[in-house]
Amino acid sequence: MPKIAAVIVAAGRGTRAGGSELAKQYRTVGSQSVLRRCLERFAGCGLVGVIQTVIRAGDEAHYEDAAAGLTLASAVHGGETRQASVRAGLEAIATDAPDIVLIHDAARPFVSSDLIARAIAAADETGAAIPGLKVTDTIKAVDQHGFIGETLDRDRLRAVQTPQAFAFAPILEAHRRAAREGRTDFTDDAALAEWVGMQVRVFDGESGNIKITHAEDFVRAETMELASLADVRTGTGIDVHAFGPGDHVTIGGIHIPHSQALTGHSDADVGLHALTDALLGALADGDIGSHFPPSDPQWKGAASDRFLKFACDRVAARGGRIAHLDLTIVCEAPKIGPHRDAMRAAIARIAGIGIDRVAVKATTSEQLGFTGRREGIAAYATATVRLPWA
Ligand code: MG
Repeated sequence: MPKIAAVIVAAGRGTRAGGSELAKQYRTVGSQSVLRRCLERFAGCGLVGVIQTVIRAGDEAHYEDAAAGLTLASAVHGGETRQASVRAGLEAIATDAPDIVLIHDAARPFVSSDLIARAIAAADETGAAIPGLKVTDTIKAVDQHGFIGETLDRDRLRAVQTPQAFAFAPILEAHRRAAREGRTDFTDDAALAEWVGMQVRVFDGESGNIKITHAEDFVRAETMELASLADVRTGTGIDVHAFGPGDHVTIGGIHIPHSQALTGHSDADVGLHALTDALLGALADGDIGSHFPPSDPQWKGAASDRFLKFACDRVAARGGRIAHLDLTIVCEAPKIGPHRDAMRAAIARIAGIGIDRVAVKATTSEQLGFTGRREGIAAYATATVRLPWA
């Protein structure tokens, strides 16, 4: 098996994407940054031994966020141009020289395992290979005044992408030679390879492997991301806790002064418990009791935000997103209404979603049943999550 490395180029300022001081590779699509998505694709494909990211000096904290928990080479700093940044990445892995290197722009976060595998196979065969798409628009070459000089033969044109894959030693040498000779104007690595006389083959790219350049590309990326989360699931959760002596209750993460308290092993937050079960239900992943047994002393008096956070993390671990949380509290007292928005904010914060995705409702039970007799409080929750269609 050839030794494979990847250089992920993430050193740009990304100002063309507009709207934010943050470079585009650190902005989020869905719940993850563009760079994080990219790194996960390479780390998760199981084909690449060393992943070397090139970042801009000063972006270390953003990079650490994006790289958290992944096994990667320490990031190195890039240069003034993309070409200089690629060279920095290649030099960083030169001592442990791989057979093949994939050079990939962090701005293409939807690269697939299949594309990575085909890039490796193509470079293994030819020494230099890049993905490209047939062009569907007719392409005109124009002069400086906008007049058509030539209509190009569409069949011979390809719009090229990354990862571009090369035998390591010759592409490193090509970069070194370009640097020696002061050539800094190559816009991709294939152009540099051509310059030193390498034969570069173009294999089929993927239309989904888009490059995020402009603000509208983020809109498209969000749409693609949502479309990929096509497994929409709904879960329900119910919880009840009885009143006992005390001076406050905790519901929906909020302390509410009251003439009684709710009794239970943890802080007895019926709202967060119901929401936790609703999320676990949507995942078909057991219930709060199976993950946090009441018999386990470590959960005695525990703040229930950790239970809800746990369930939210299970959604994230499945590559999913929480679309909506809806909680209904049933009690005669205390009054929930005045605390509704504080609860929504607390739940949204724990779940890492917008407050517009969290509903809290309250009702009495018209003095009927155990809630009507003021013996306890009941909570009903519904969670809607989106998971990748597997
Ligand atoms: Mg409970």
